[in-house]
Amino acid sequence: MSEREHTDILVIGAGPCGLAVGVAAREAGLPCTILDKGPVTSAIDRYPLDMTFFSTPEHLELGDVPLVVDRDKPTRRDALTYYRRIARHFSLDVRQYEEVLAVERNGSGFHATSRTAAGDRREYAARAVVVATGYYDTPVLLYVPGEGLPKVTHYFRDAHRYFDQDVIVVGGGNSAVDAALSTWRAGARVTLVHQFDDFDRGVKPWVLPDIRNRLEKGEIAVRWRTRLAEIEPARVRLEHADGGDAGWVRNDFVLAMTGYRPDPKFLVSLGVPVDPVTGVPAHDPETLETPVAGAFVAGVIAAGFDANRIFIQNGREHGPRIVRALAARLVDVTGTPG
Ligand code: FAD
Repeated sequence: MSEREHTDILVIGAGPCGLAVGVAAREAGLPCTILDKGPVTSAIDRYPLDMTFFSTPEHLELGDVPLVVDRDKPTRRDALTYYRRIARHFSLDVRQYEEVLAVERNGSGFHATSRTAAGDRREYAARAVVVATGYYDTPVLLYVPGEGLPKVTHYFRDAHRYFDQDVIVVGGGNSAVDAALSTWRAGARVTLVHQFDDFDRGVKPWVLPDIRNRLEKGEIAVRWRTRLAEIEPARVRLEHADGGDAGWVRNDFVLAMTGYRPDPKFLVSLGVPVDPVTGVPAHDPETLETPVAGAFVAGVIAAGFDANRIFIQNGREHGPRIVRALAARLVDVTGTPG
C-alpha cells in the first residue's frame, strides 16, 4: 500500500471549475491538490479542433488574470493556452493523468484512491473534497441498435474525414449546428435529424441565419420530429417522433450531438443524495457544500441533467465560494482568532 498524502482540499477534476477552486485556495493560503485523469482542462482539449467559444474572453478568466485574444471570442486553442498559464501562474498542485478511482468518508475527513498513468496507486487524506468532474465523459446515448458501431460518435473533432460522405447529425443544439455546418463546408452530404420541430432555444443567435439558409436552400437536409431508430454499417432507419416508421437512409457516419450528463458516482458513493428527476446532487447553492460535511460540488456537475445551466462563466464562481466556506471553518477548527 502506498503512503498516504495529506492535503486540506482535494479536487477531483482540473477543468476550468476545478482550477478555479485551486486558484481561490492558493489566494487563501489553503493547501489544495487537484487530480485529473487527463491533462489540464482535458474536456476542452477534446472539443472540436476549430471550435470558438460563445463566451467573450473575460467570462472565461480565472483569478483576475486577463485572457487576451485578438478576436471577440476565444478559440479552443486560446483557452487551452490560457488555462495552462493559470496552472503555472498560481503554481497549482495539479496532478495530471492521475485518475481518481474512489473517494470515501474517513472520520471527519476523506480518503481517496487514485491511479497514475504508470499504473501506480496513490492514497490521499483530505479535510475537504470537491467533485468537479464535469460532464464530457458521459454522452447522452441514443439507446438504439448499432450505436456501438465505429461510424457513430458523440464527439465531433474535425470535418475533414467526412468529405464526400453521407453524414447524419443528430440533435438540435449548438454542437449539432456546428457539426452540420462544418461537415457540410468540408464537402459532406449532411442530414440533420432532430426530435423536435425547431432548433433548441439555446442555439447561438449568430449561427442561426447560416444554418437556416443552408436548410432553406436544401444544401443541408433536415428531418424534424424524427429520431434515429437503428444504425447499420451502410444505412440508418429513422422513425417519426410519434413512433411511425420514417424509412431507411443511406449513411456513412452518425454524429450524435445529443449532449452530455454529469456522472455523480463519487457523490453517490459519499452518500450525497441525487435527485432522480433532475439529476441535481443535493447542495447548498451558496457554499456548494453537500449534506455530507466537507464534500462539495463545483462546476457543471452541480447542474444535474440540465447540464447547460452551468458553464464556465458561472461555474468558475464556485471555487471562491467553496474556499470562503472552508476558510471560515479552518479558523473555527484551529481556534485562530478571526
Ligand atoms: P470539465 O471542464 O468537464 O472538467 C472536468 C474534469 O474532470 C476533466 O478534465 C476530466 O478529465 C476530469 N475527471 C473526470 N473524472 C475524473 C476522475 N475520475 N479522476 C480525475 N479526473 C477526472 N462554456 C462557456 O462558459 N462558454 C463557452 O463558450 C462554452 N462553449 C462550449 C463549447 C462546447 C463544444 C462544449 C462541449 C462546451 C462548451 N462550454 C462553454 C461548456 C464548458 O466547457 C463546460 O461547462 C465546462 O468545461 C465545465 O467545466 P468543469 O470544470 O465543471 O468540467
